[in-house]
Amino acid sequence: MKTHAINEPEPTPMQKQDGSQPLLSSRLVSTSILAAGLALLTVVLAITGIDYWSTRTAMLQDSRVEAAIVADNVSAALVFHDAATAKEILYALRASPMVIGAGVYDAQGLLLAQQVREGKPDLPATVLSLGMNGESERSGLRVLEMTQPIHGPGTTVGTLYIRKSMDAVYMRLGVRFFSTLLIAVCAMALATAMVLRSRAAVREAENRLHTLAHTDAVTGIGNRHAFNERLTAEIERARSLASRVALIYIDLDNFKTHNDTLGHTAGDGLLRQVAGRLHSVVRSTDTICRLGGDEFALILRLDMDDATLEKYEQRLINTFQTLDMEAGQQVNVTCSAGIATFPDDAPDIDGLMGHADTAMYRAKEMGKNRCVRFEASMNQAVVRRHAIEHALRAELAHGDGLAMHYQPLISAADESLVGAEALLRWTHAELGNVSPLEVVAVAEECGLIVTLGYWVLRTACRDAAGWNDAGAPLRVAVNLSAQQLGDPQFLQQVMDILREEGLPAHRLELELTETVLMENLEAGAHTLHRLSQLGIHLSIDDFGTGYSSLSYLRQLPMRRLKIDRSFVKDLPRQEHSRTIVSAIVALAHGLGLQVTAEGIETREQADYLTGQGCDILQGYVFARPMPAQQFLAFQARPRGQAM
Ligand code: C2E
Ligand code: MG
Ligand code: MG
Repeated sequence: MKTHAINEPEPTPMQKQDGSQPLLSSRLVSTSILAAGLALLTVVLAITGIDYWSTRTAMLQDSRVEAAIVADNVSAALVFHDAATAKEILYALRASPMVIGAGVYDAQGLLLAQQVREGKPDLPATVLSLGMNGESERSGLRVLEMTQPIHGPGTTVGTLYIRKSMDAVYMRLGVRFFSTLLIAVCAMALATAMVLRSRAAVREAENRLHTLAHTDAVTGIGNRHAFNERLTAEIERARSLASRVALIYIDLDNFKTHNDTLGHTAGDGLLRQVAGRLHSVVRSTDTICRLGGDEFALILRLDMDDATLEKYEQRLINTFQTLDMEAGQQVNVTCSAGIATFPDDAPDIDGLMGHADTAMYRAKEMGKNRCVRFEASMNQAVVRRHAIEHALRAELAHGDGLAMHYQPLISAADESLVGAEALLRWTHAELGNVSPLEVVAVAEECGLIVTLGYWVLRTACRDAAGWNDAGAPLRVAVNLSAQQLGDPQFLQQVMDILREEGLPAHRLELELTETVLMENLEAGAHTLHRLSQLGIHLSIDDFGTGYSSLSYLRQLPMRRLKIDRSFVKDLPRQEHSRTIVSAIVALAHGLGLQVTAEGIETREQADYLTGQGCDILQGYVFARPMPAQQFLAFQARPRGQAM
């Protein structure tokens, strides 16, 4: 699938954290490197310490052996007080580079002979001045001294004194220390380079994953993840700066129809176009995300006044109009949008999202293609809607609060009863009487309408099967909603219900509004033809209030057309209504349809409509909708008597 980089999601809080993350992680890396360096240095120092100790111990042992040998050799020269020989023997010690001085003292402790390396101080003249005697040693930082008794025949004849410099030891230790250190530093540098390289690779992979997880694959703009993070960040920012944020939910109108007619690939193209257009409306500080399906969201930093925001809303609504599709065709797209602001409408994210959603639904209810601002009163409507949904579910599962009432349909020719319209009634313990319009609207929204619709149809058919069928057959007219007609099982269900309840098909009439018909163009026409073939009567309800195509309606197997009661209300005084009614009657008769007038409240209206050629009359002047039992009694009343 082709993706557009339309609007790269701006850094989300997580990404912002990421911004400070390099600093944090590089600090972490340098701290670990420092710790490793210190550890290595400690090891090197420890090795050097051990080295020093072992070298010094070895040197002492060697020196002791050396001193013993020299003492042994020099003993004869000392017995004979032969200074020259003694000096010569001492000379042999020069071979050891560490020896800087050596001397032989006689039994009286006086210096007999000495060998001192050039530049080094002479030895003390007496053994006493050495401060040492017998077999002893003394080690300073730079010098190691030792004395060794010289034994003659049967007695000690003198003392050998050797002075050694530690410089060579230090030199060797130094070389070892620095070379070990150098090796350690090189190893550290190599390890650091490897760690940094693999870290960079990991970071790159992480960034890529982050982008993928926050981008919508179809449009290339931020997805729901990005939206959640961005909204959280913007709310936090607004809190700290005491500023405002506006959240706009946008839902495309009738996207499903576009998707079905254009195909899914073109549908994706349309979504990309929408994202592109939205991008052209927003400012760089605003965020666009696709929440899924045909839902988009805008997050605005609200640094504008209400008038500017209104212009913004208008620009948003006007931005789509015609979209050029990839295949060359043009599509008209409208959207419904809802706005909620922080902190004015809601003090937190959940509230803000809920309110924007509520406002968006209100925009849909108000006829789509508009932007609606959230108002507190909308929430009461939402709460009521939820309560109705909850109660209706329970009612459909195991309640007995639902009932069908029947409003008589009267023949205009002789005012005989020809049938009744079945109208839903619901009395709930807490909600009271809920209007059928409200019940149907909620049921349509939450998907309960199909179940409810079948319950209505079955109840109406069952009741109608028991009606007095001695004279002309009495029809029951049942209202249908759009989703019912769209249900693939509808035809089969209607046939099953008629059979099971024992009602002949010609005694059932189905009322469909123009909107219901227009929302089920293709599949609807087929179903309607099949229903008509079965003998079921079809009528167009509330005629004149919808925007139907007459040429389309003409192709449908309709029997009857019901003039909406809004045109009946002001009859016969208002000329406008008179004109409309006579036009509708002429049109219906021209198309071979019967005409029903509903909402007749006065005798005058009934007479006028009869005079205009209406075929069937319905209204309070004849009877109000009544329970099934009462309708049975109504059938037995003398003709023309209202109830
Ligand atoms: P509708 O199909 O146009 O039904 C006629 C409405 O006009 C009924 O309102 C009826 O009580 C009312 N009415 C009849 N005569 C008069 C009159 O003389 N004056 C006035 N002011 N009103 C009159 P109701 O029962 O409140 O139903 C309203 C709408 O609810 C119906 O309009 C129909 O669209 C819908 N509805 C009712 N029951 C059902 C149902 O079982 N299924 C579906 N899908 N919709 C239903
Ligand atoms: Mg009706
Ligand atoms: Mg009606």
